[in-house]
Amino acid sequence: MPLLVMKFGGTSVANIDRIRRAAKRVGVEVAKGYDVIVIVSAMAGRTNELVGWVEEISPFYDAREYDAVVASGENVTAGLMALILQEMDVPARSWQGWQVPVRTTSTHSAARIEEIPTDNITAKFTEGMRVAVIAGFQGLSPEGRITTLGRGGSDTTAVAFAAAFGAERCDIYTDVDGVYTTDPRVCDKARKLDRIAFEEMLELASLGAKVLQTRSVELAMRYNVTLRVLSSFGELSDTAGTLVCSEEEIMESNVVNGIAFSRDEAKMTLISVADRPGIAAAIFGPLSEAGVNVDMIIQNISEEGRTDMTFSCPTTQVTRAQKALEEAKSRGEINFRELVADTAVAKISAVGIGMRSQSGVAAKMFRTLSDEGINIKVIATSEIKISVLIDRKYMELAVQALHDAFGLDQAT
Ligand code: ADP
Ligand code: ASP
Ligand code: MG
Repeated sequence: MPLLVMKFGGTSVANIDRIRRAAKRVGVEVAKGYDVIVIVSAMAGRTNELVGWVEEISPFYDAREYDAVVASGENVTAGLMALILQEMDVPARSWQGWQVPVRTTSTHSAARIEEIPTDNITAKFTEGMRVAVIAGFQGLSPEGRITTLGRGGSDTTAVAFAAAFGAERCDIYTDVDGVYTTDPRVCDKARKLDRIAFEEMLELASLGAKVLQTRSVELAMRYNVTLRVLSSFGELSDTAGTLVCSEEEIMESNVVNGIAFSRDEAKMTLISVADRPGIAAAIFGPLSEAGVNVDMIIQNISEEGRTDMTFSCPTTQVTRAQKALEEAKSRGEINFRELVADTAVAKISAVGIGMRSQSGVAAKMFRTLSDEGINIKVIATSEIKISVLIDRKYMELAVQALHDAFGLDQAT
């Protein structure tokens, strides 16, 4: 029988009523003749609550126990979804990650899926089961411990199952009816895109648009999974959504197709470090070993053999970065006068594959921000994106101004 993967995010399974509505959508596909693999998130707010409890005990927790706790939210919704489907006379059962098993690396709280054996679930489909409900976001390490895939990881579970089972499509049901030109909660002129290229979606996701987890887009691209984002709240018949697909499947496109932002950035500056060969390695080596995700980097011009080095990282990693750099200093590997942390910055990015062939995007972005009186602190560019760090208090203003400047409310 043809097979579909349907993923329901936290708000789509926030209570029993909503799980019933989601189950009804699953029922429609089963009635059409599909076997369905349903991936569920934890109820809205539950994962945050679980993380909060762990952090309340200690900020230096054992990551294996963190995973044991935060994975539990998905177990609840998987069982509830299976119960509701059974009540609808749809043969269904639930699986937790370890039961499949979803084999992952042992990087706790940020594990990657390595393998999903299909025999166990396929055998049940052969016996007449119509829906396999899988707890998203979780897996099993080689050491036999529960792992989680990082926040938003159920999207990745969904795409990985679609790839492993060769599903006809992977539908991500969420609380917006597709991928927009920017977060519709920040810019009311945001426009829903009918299609978006994998490359652009990948950039938008990694630059802060949380509608899809970055890794899920990577997997969909690699395994050519047909990926759709759609609302679980609209009419059952409304299945327009957004198709994430290859560039060749998109006829018309703007130069810039999306604006992403990330609120929780910090700008760290090492003041007066010796400008000598190997200094960057001496700074960024220890940071990388400490697990700090360094994003943008600038080295200022040097004067009398000394320079300032600036980098950005998530605000949650500032303490870890400070500790790593102070330790490197006390070991005599680096020398700096001061380490200044600015934790009130945000990153705004413009993304579009049209940038490959068209110049002037950066100039337009900088002019727009300057017209609004917004100062740019750090700039980074790549082939299809331009990112800037600005004061966090101007984040919404910057997103709206750039959305207007690039005419994103209008289709080409
Ligand atoms: P779920 O719980 O279903 O996984 P998420 O909260 O993870 O949902 O992701 C959906 C949210 O992503 C939306 O509510 C929206 O606020 C946000 N979002 C950010 N950028 C975009 C974008 N470009 N298009 C659509 N939604 C976006
Ligand atoms: N429940 C997890 C989270 O909130 C995973 C997910 O919803 O995708 O991050
Ligand atoms: Mg999500």
